[in-house]
Amino acid sequence: MKILVINAGSSSIKYQLFEMPRRSILARGMVERIGEPQANLVHKYNNTEHTAGVDAPDHDAGMQVILSTLADAKIGVVSRIDEIQAVGHRVVHGGEEFTGSVVINEHVLESIQRYADLAPLHNPPNLIGIRAAMHALPDAVQAACFDTAFHTSIPKTAYLYGLPYEIYETYRVRRYGFHGTSHRYVAGRCAALLDADKTQVNVITCHLGNGCSMTAVKGGKSVDTSMGLTPLEGVVMGTRCGDIDPAILFYLADKGYNVKQLNAMCNKQSGLLGISGISNDMRNLLKRAAEGHRRAQLAIDIFCYRITKYIGAYTAAMGRLDAVVFTGGIGENNALLRQQICADQTQIGIAIDPTRNTAAEPKERLISSAASRVRVFVIPTDEEAAIAADTFELAQQVNPS
Ligand code: ADP
Repeated sequence: MKILVINAGSSSIKYQLFEMPRRSILARGMVERIGEPQANLVHKYNNTEHTAGVDAPDHDAGMQVILSTLADAKIGVVSRIDEIQAVGHRVVHGGEEFTGSVVINEHVLESIQRYADLAPLHNPPNLIGIRAAMHALPDAVQAACFDTAFHTSIPKTAYLYGLPYEIYETYRVRRYGFHGTSHRYVAGRCAALLDADKTQVNVITCHLGNGCSMTAVKGGKSVDTSMGLTPLEGVVMGTRCGDIDPAILFYLADKGYNVKQLNAMCNKQSGLLGISGISNDMRNLLKRAAEGHRRAQLAIDIFCYRITKYIGAYTAAMGRLDAVVFTGGIGENNALLRQQICADQTQIGIAIDPTRNTAAEPKERLISSAASRVRVFVIPTDEEAAIAADTFELAQQVNPS
């Protein structure tokens, strides 16, 4: 079965076409700069990359570009577009309602619209992408896979804030968590690498990319995660501040900052960028720190310290820790930072093996030493493969063969 996975943002649509259940990728790419006078197509297939300026004034047009490319006589990978039997959509917010991936119907569309209140930058473009796909492939099964779904198992003790209870009842202000598809995928791979049933394993998954989040996965279920009502909470990220004393905002409001400015400060001007004053990109910071840039080094040190602190907190929260997983652009690619995060943690039972940690291959591997009680892994995340797997399962339920 051919399954198209779609990740629609405000001005781009990313896609991957899978052949299931083999999980092989037939093509991947994106249409970016949708809505601008000229949009851009990047299409990768058979080790070939095709780029072109395209006409995509809106998401419907962007979706048509993708489908006609996939069925193109020269650079396409299917002969007819209706060979695509199902489409899996990444959707950021599923509120408290969606505990897993679902087949999209009118009710699901209404709910995604309703949760746009909680994810105003993400759910609206996700919804536009879904409608465009429904329009272009009316006979395909359309599935929604939510970033929040994996975290719906978090107990109330961990998801409620210490605010008046009515704030939760009235506004549904609580911890939702994000990157759920990634945390679920790497926790599942971790159990497989340990040759254990996932219900028997307690793991801390560290998704460290531009956005960063940590999850305590106890017996296969998310029991706590560092991002909260929004992705702002938790560890220090590229441009987000992570955990701060909320009174800082009142203090700055008294000094004349308005809500818009504070929002921009915390989401776009803080984190690695704000502390270093030079970049939100970890590779740049490592380079500059090695050249002696003090604030670049300080940003890196704060970044690592916060992650170490969360590992300690989640170990205590779960009572027993079996494994730690590093994933995301930073987690997968930087041995130095993994070493710094895990240094001096023999009390918790973590010891990194320098040779395994710095090895280039395989990408998915154990990096802790033989003596380490807690196993530490690098596991490249693959949210699209997880979405394809969920969509395949749902499509089979809809159309049993
Ligand atoms: P996103 O969250 O946007 O998907 P990624 O998961 O691709 O982002 O992560 C992007 C981050 O990963 C950037 O800060 C980038 O500098 C960092 N990164 C990528 N490769 C390396 C590397 N070899 N060493 C350190 N950081 C890296």
